[in-house]
Amino acid sequence: MQTEIAVSEQGSPIRDVSPESAMVDLMGGAARREIQVHEHGFVALVDVMPRLAPEGQTGDAAIVQAARVSYGAGTKKVNEDRGLIRYLLRHRHTTPFEMVEFKFHVAMPIFVARQWIRHRTANVNEYSARYSLVPDRFYVPNRDDVRAQSKLNRQGRDEPIDEDTAQKFVSYLEKAESMHKDYLELTERGLARELARIGLPQSVYTEWYWKIDLHNLLHFLSLRVDPHAQKEIRDFGEAMLRLIEPIVPLTVEAFRDYRMESMQLTRLEIEALRSNSSELATENKREQQEWLEKRAKLGLD
Ligand SMILES: Cc1cc2nc3c(=O)[nH]c(=O)nc-3n(C[C@H](O)[C@H](O)[C@H](O)COP(=O)(O)OP(=O)(O)OC[C@H]3O[C@@H](n4cnc5c(N)ncnc54)[C@H](O)[C@@H]3O)c2cc1C
Repeated sequence: MQTEIAVSEQGSPIRDVSPESAMVDLMGGAARREIQVHEHGFVALVDVMPRLAPEGQTGDAAIVQAARVSYGAGTKKVNEDRGLIRYLLRHRHTTPFEMVEFKFHVAMPIFVARQWIRHRTANVNEYSARYSLVPDRFYVPNRDDVRAQSKLNRQGRDEPIDEDTAQKFVSYLEKAESMHKDYLELTERGLARELARIGLPQSVYTEWYWKIDLHNLLHFLSLRVDPHAQKEIRDFGEAMLRLIEPIVPLTVEAFRDYRMESMQLTRLEIEALRSNSSELATENKREQQEWLEKRAKLGLD
């Protein structure tokens, strides 16, 4: 390891420590990596911290480095790094994951942004519809995503809806375009943009820069890539997961194994499992339904 001493004008010298191997850009020199989501939306990864990693390593190295601070630097093999990351994630030792940060540029419909903004542990800077005009971009779901109200989940959709209702839905959404024409006309007449925008529907798009550390991003993804989340925000979450996977592959692998594709059992569920019963000792219908879903996932029914 080379050490160069740069002479500072005041105080102690500044020491520059160079790595033994060359440093590589984790974004491969790209200014942004973008995935289109729906017709008008996108998620772009525009920066990552650390941006550089020693050749042959990934952003996972920053997590391992932080976790090992108490033991000092040592030569550890990749499979040991993998074991450590998996241990940290399994046991919710979360702070090392805060050492990695991602900055995204996202364009999404307002109704998705409303769900997204509930996650408070990120830094956000959003497009101003007081300052600028709202572009004429509107979200219209694919026919396959136009479904009936779920009978089991009051917050979800389920079976495909009949053609007539689907057509009515599309013409209802198309009114957004004529609303947008009125919006433009009102601004051309001199109405303040901050007022003109208030009649626009939730299907119009907004954009923001969103910066978050990996620990909080995993929390966001565990809620928003989950089947209980609305399909539209799930599509954005899945795109983000794809974007971060090459940057922190070991963490994403552990996240899939221990969070996304795992399940938590309650005390009542463990008791039901022990007595090999599909009945849960509760009157709560929702809890019973959740138990049935878990049993199905476990292949018990
Ligand atoms: C499927 C689904 C349905 C939902 N339905 C509704 C709904 O009907 N109505 C509704 O209002 N919301 C709803 N939400 C939003 C939900 O209640 C949360 O507000 C949102 O998911 C953000 O979660 P969070 O607070 O854990 O995340 P973040 O804000 O990202 O926070 C991450 C973690 O930081 C900690 N934290 C952050 N801020 C604080 C704080 N001020 N004090 C203490 N701890 C803090 C908490 O541990 C939190 O879990 C829904 C969310 C989902 C996923």
